[in-house]
Amino acid sequence: MPYLHQWSPALGETLPHRALGTGPTPVRAVPGLASGPAAVWLKDESSFGDGGWGGNKVRKLEWLLPDVERRRRPTILTFGALGTNWGLATALYARDAGIATALALIDQPIDAHVRRQLERLDASGATIHRTRTKGRTVALAPWLIARHSSRFRPPYVLPAGGSSPLGTLGYVETALEIAAQVEAGDLPEPGHVIVPAGSGGTTAGLALGFALAGLSTRVVGVVVTDQLRLDREAMGRLADKSAALLRRRGATFATPRLDFEMTTDQLGPGYGEPTPESTAAMERASTEGLTLEPVYTAKAMAALLDMNERGDLGDRPVLFLNTNGPR
Ligand SMILES: *Cc1c(COP(=O)(O)O)cnc(C)c1O
Repeated sequence: MPYLHQWSPALGETLPHRALGTGPTPVRAVPGLASGPAAVWLKDESSFGDGGWGGNKVRKLEWLLPDVERRRRPTILTFGALGTNWGLATALYARDAGIATALALIDQPIDAHVRRQLERLDASGATIHRTRTKGRTVALAPWLIARHSSRFRPPYVLPAGGSSPLGTLGYVETALEIAAQVEAGDLPEPGHVIVPAGSGGTTAGLALGFALAGLSTRVVGVVVTDQLRLDREAMGRLADKSAALLRRRGATFATPRLDFEMTTDQLGPGYGEPTPESTAAMERASTEGLTLEPVYTAKAMAALLDMNERGDLGDRPVLFLNTNGPR
């Protein structure tokens, strides 16, 4: 049973969930990555997802796919860049549920990693529209919706990264899972949790979940794109909408005190563009048996190493979430 349904049994009736992966995902100490006073722990989300792709997008789909089915929408229409992990996870898991996927994709620098993703996207059976820029995607939206409507049923439209208020519950659930691991003694209570922020659902969901679980853990969202608003205000609003959704479905709780910060220090020239720091972080992680990818997790690790070295994380443990999931 999901932690959210245990936390508020009323949600068991009103908030459908489909298990797509096996939790809890493993946690371990990584002493070799401690560049400062905070001990470094890893929670490996790459192992989450039983349908050919893992990582943080599968957590969101566990709450989204049942809603697509409840509304009887035959197609999901969503957005991303060429190498989108979100688009790939959606295509694979929706296909298993008998739901089609249409993707409108904007350009990003093409390297070997992106080329591999594009091959997997092609093989997934999703319909791909290369809309190139955000402006053209917005202009084409009415056409895309009409094109993917069938028998008067519009597509289920999801924002980039699946960070709708409902998708964001995937990381409220993960925060409750982390709280249970702390409770069980598998992990010390982290002072900070560091995650990449691409569309913000991971950051906002964790911040809300830790507040609901009563953990004194601050979330650091490491911004990896300038194509979406990922500042404190936008993230706070997303968390508020997810909290409002939980209340509408019958959960009762006091106003959560969100504890999180956003940093753009590792963005560099932009989405998918490596920096010297992200490349170095990737190499350092790989010597500790942790494989990162260049777009998200390398920049989040660069932030962790830099902040810990400066003493900005204090001396309580820091938890790094490996959000990536090729399988
Ligand atoms: C999408 C993605 C993220 C960003 O998560 P958001 O919830 O969109 O902010 C982080 N890491 C990886 C590997 C991703 O694919």
